[in-house]
Amino acid sequence: MKVVVVGGGFAGINLAKKLAGIDDIEITIVDKNNYNFFPPLLYQVSTAFIEPSNISYPFRRLFQMQRNLRFYLGSLERVLTDSSAIETSNGRLEYDCLVLAMGTETNYFGLENIRENALPMKSIDNALNLRNHILINMEKVTRAKDPDERKKLLTIVVAGGGPTGVEISGMIAEMGIHIIAKDYPEIGNVTGNIYLVDAGQALLGPMSKKSQNEAMKVLAGLGVKIKLHCAVKDYVDGKVILSNGDVISSATLIWASGVIAREAPGLPASSITSKGRRIIVDQFNRVSGTTNIFSIGDQCMETSDPKYPNGHPQLAQVAIQQGKLLAKNLLNLKDGKPLDAFKYHNKGTMAIIAKYKAVVDLPRGFFKGFVAWFVWLFIHIIPIAGFRNKIKLAFNWFWSFITNDPTLRLIIRPRREDEEDV
Ligand SMILES: Cc1cc2nc3c(=O)[nH]c(=O)nc-3n(C[C@H](O)[C@H](O)[C@H](O)COP(=O)(O)OP(=O)(O)OC[C@H]3O[C@@H](n4cnc5c(N)ncnc54)[C@H](O)[C@@H]3O)c2cc1C
Repeated sequence: MKVVVVGGGFAGINLAKKLAGIDDIEITIVDKNNYNFFPPLLYQVSTAFIEPSNISYPFRRLFQMQRNLRFYLGSLERVLTDSSAIETSNGRLEYDCLVLAMGTETNYFGLENIRENALPMKSIDNALNLRNHILINMEKVTRAKDPDERKKLLTIVVAGGGPTGVEISGMIAEMGIHIIAKDYPEIGNVTGNIYLVDAGQALLGPMSKKSQNEAMKVLAGLGVKIKLHCAVKDYVDGKVILSNGDVISSATLIWASGVIAREAPGLPASSITSKGRRIIVDQFNRVSGTTNIFSIGDQCMETSDPKYPNGHPQLAQVAIQQGKLLAKNLLNLKDGKPLDAFKYHNKGTMAIIAKYKAVVDLPRGFFKGFVAWFVWLFIHIIPIAGFRNKIKLAFNWFWSFITNDPTLRLIIRPRREDEEDV
């Protein structure tokens, strides 16, 4: 059986790993990048705390020695349902069974100025852009004579108070306290320069009240200015315009505000939800209106799980569990056995807020502080691809936490010879 999996994120990779070494099943992972990466730690790349290579791993290295796994570099352009084939940016591939696991992309909700000028946080490229942007702005501050210009360069607005927004706000606030004064003596200590804006009534929306309160308390303690019940409406000429009428002059708007499923052109229009563009699947993750196409992870919407009638949360654990179950179901399909329905087992959610401070919501409890922070680190090391990456990441963390001073603040931008310097 020829299985083509588009997207080698949490869902696609877990499916492929389960089917590795199984004769009669030939798997091709198609991805627009040649590496798998770990989104929950992107914010640490963007704040120069860890290297991008700590959280990414080449597919071809991952599939070495696996005789039935192949990698194909390309971006999906169209699903040709009638001929059981896909068109990619690099050619056509045929399948007996297609799995769509392309995740989501940043949603700008039609706000064109924000799409053009804000900095998203969805990919390694995004994280490196943000890292360079922050470091370049710091250099500009050291040269700026006008106090308003200095203030604007130092001010950072984060849109979106979910885990990503909270994590990045906490990390940048800590940089202001521990690093800026040392690296940039011309600037000195920086606090109170970060705004975290969210339209909801609390930070960490889907988490427990206790976690939400803890996030508010810790971030406020670090000097982050939190604005709730308020949305970022526009970003023009370096001015962030909020729905309550406030205008914040800022050279940096980080957009951590929303996602929308990646497009899969060629699927029946009736199998796509109008909200969030997710692909509608049944309890076996089969795409509605098709027979041999499945979708897993953030990209799909499954409403048949009794505990999640409005669809599952777009989280790594859901993607991992769906990938593993679909692997099992593809074997069942091959052997003519009945398929198992997907049921999500919530193992808990967590968010890091600052150094030594995290929150963990378990199905039956909540904990916070140093223990939660340590558990967070441990849990986030386990799924990192590659043993060497795990060791490197653990060492980097250890070193950064004891010294408060990682050494990765490098402005590295691939440029042509004729492009201008900073
Ligand atoms: C900054 C950030 C922080 C997060 N933190 C957490 C967290 O702490 N805990 C948690 O549970 N979840 C977190 N999430 C959500 C979590 O990362 C997702 O739920 C999870 O990645 C979904 O897995 P997936 O396999 O569906 O998609 P992804 O992991 O997004 O993988 C999609 C894959 O598809 C590829 N792809 C995309 N488009 C195409 C195309 N057109 N053609 C070919 N390939 C394509 C991509 O390159 C990628 O490899 C976070 C997400 C982000 C962005």
